Amino acid sequence: MKTIDLRSDTVSHPTPAMREAMAKAVVGDDVYHDDPTVNQLEADAAELLGKEAAVFVTSGTQGNLCALLAHCNRGESIIIGDSSHIFRYEQGGMAQLGGILPHTVPVQADGTLRLCDLESAINPDDEHKPVTRLVALENTHNMAGGMPLSAEYTDAVADFARRNLLIFHIDGARIFNAAAAYGVDVKTLVAGADSVTFCLSKGLCAPAGSVLVGRQDFIRRARRARKVLGGSMRQVGILAAAGLVALHTMRDRLSEDHDNAQLLAEGLSELPDICIKGQNTNFVFFSLSDDAGISLDEFVGALRRDYNIFMSPYSGEQGLIRLRTHYWIDRSAIDKVIAAVSSLVS
Ligand SMILES: *Cc1c(COP(=O)(O)O)cnc(C)c1O
Repeated sequence: MKTIDLRSDTVSHPTPAMREAMAKAVVGDDVYHDDPTVNQLEADAAELLGKEAAVFVTSGTQGNLCALLAHCNRGESIIIGDSSHIFRYEQGGMAQLGGILPHTVPVQADGTLRLCDLESAINPDDEHKPVTRLVALENTHNMAGGMPLSAEYTDAVADFARRNLLIFHIDGARIFNAAAAYGVDVKTLVAGADSVTFCLSKGLCAPAGSVLVGRQDFIRRARRARKVLGGSMRQVGILAAAGLVALHTMRDRLSEDHDNAQLLAEGLSELPDICIKGQNTNFVFFSLSDDAGISLDEFVGALRRDYNIFMSPYSGEQGLIRLRTHYWIDRSAIDKVIAAVSSLVS
């Protein structure tokens, strides 16, 4: 029985085209800038996002940290959402390694930060306070349930940053999901940002790697940060080759994942005892009603044991299951999941 793994889009694995490109990749020592495949990936990523330059990093976490280390000095402060990935799930790397202080503001249900909250998070020019250097958004917003942020909203934050002489960073781990959700060129979603991180893994299916884009001088500093973090690799064109396939062939199909997430939510919502709590982009959240006659753990266990369907209780909120669709979850998998869940709850 084929495994249907809905725990996350991070479980997606490389496509046959990626494996072929990896086998054939021309490589060199990337620390010498000698890897033509990495150079190509960086050039294409910069162009696609409308920025001057790019650096290939090992992960989204490393990309965000390189960005913050390159943008901020020790003792400076950044404004960031209180449920953002950078604040909640990156071990406070900015503070541990960069001496950077996060000043959190509440993330709204739609994944945005209110401009009035941003405004009041800026420290005055006062020797008691750290200097506020940067503001960061997350698009799509993970903890807000995969919410995509619009170009209009991002432009408003860019304008706020410009007026207040702040640097503007976007954690765009799933920025291409946001572009697919709005049906826009990704450039419009990052036009006002000084830097953007995005993942080649997750929905784009590359086995590893993220890219950080921004101005030339910033990318030079980010490269130094990557080196001290141990993230400079050698013949890494092997991975960049998969990244190029991801960048050029996997973006346009992300709307299929969103359609499948919607179909899954619709199908599940028609079953007794299933309460859909949200569906945005490739995320679906649901809970079991108290009358379901099966606990969440039993439910997850039975799906895995009897149907080879992998789900896991959501760590962010008790009693919820979060599903994420991806390339390896097709229409027929959605039907199988709905049928399996139906057999467990009715
Ligand atoms: C996945 C993710 C990252 C980076 O995660 P890595 O596992 O380090 O690649 C950063 N931000 C968000 C919003 C994410 O979902």
